[in-house]
Amino acid sequence: MSVGAITARGLLAATADESGGSAAPREVELLLSHALGHDRAWLYAHADDPLVAADAVQFHALLLRRATGEPVAYIVGRREFWSLDFAVTPDVLIPRPETELLVELALRRIAQNTQVEIADLGTGSGAIALALAHERPRARVTATDASVAALTVARGNAQRLGFGNVEFAQGDWCAALADRKFDLIVSNPPYIAATDAHLGRGDLRFEPRAALTSGADGLDAIRAIVRAAPAHLQPGGWLLLEHGHDQGAGVRALLEKSGFVEVSTARDLEGRERVSGGRSA
Ligand code: GLN
Repeated sequence: MSVGAITARGLLAATADESGGSAAPREVELLLSHALGHDRAWLYAHADDPLVAADAVQFHALLLRRATGEPVAYIVGRREFWSLDFAVTPDVLIPRPETELLVELALRRIAQNTQVEIADLGTGSGAIALALAHERPRARVTATDASVAALTVARGNAQRLGFGNVEFAQGDWCAALADRKFDLIVSNPPYIAATDAHLGRGDLRFEPRAALTSGADGLDAIRAIVRAAPAHLQPGGWLLLEHGHDQGAGVRALLEKSGFVEVSTARDLEGRERVSGGRSA
């Protein structure tokens, strides 16, 4: 390495210094590898390779975007979920680690090697649908969204990941299912109350409102799904819904009112109520 050359190691160290340690190292590495057109593994293998000035300029432009609050996932156009690599755009919610609980609970209800029919309502990037399709190659997964732009992102992910057992349907919640019946319906619908102060903070400011909020108490989408789902489930089929930490009792009551049995709620790793579900009688 020649003295004074720009290197990945040098840029990372300078960024850590300039931010006074406030920049998350993993985020900064993601931004640098994106600016350089490589993955993070490349950074470690080539930390001391000389870079050109244009690379440093590009990296600083990405740091500035991040400094205005733009989510890293939108800047780099990627987010990992269930160890799969998803393309994401501002047309879709950024997949969250806590949603992996919904995938786990769904997998517990689908035996390996069975030809079950699964629907994922409001699929966004396709994260849940494609994780299930990956784990259960013999299942047929129908991923729906009201947003055509979101379906384009989800379709692109299915193609890039090479999953042939996923199909897509456009429409609101169960309306997208026409007259079909499923063994399992899952959804991570919008569930934040329209006036929730969190909407003005962090990544949520940049995400599609329709994927986040649902009426005054946040439960409008869940009410619509729970009401319509029984007509789209096989006898004994399951409905599983992600929701806010303080909505468990409300969602269980809705499920029971709609005739679901074996209604229960699972907690996430932090012990908060996160996913409720029930079985069609
Ligand atoms: N879990 C997300 C959040 O609170 C919200 C996602 C959703 O509404 N489905 O940031």
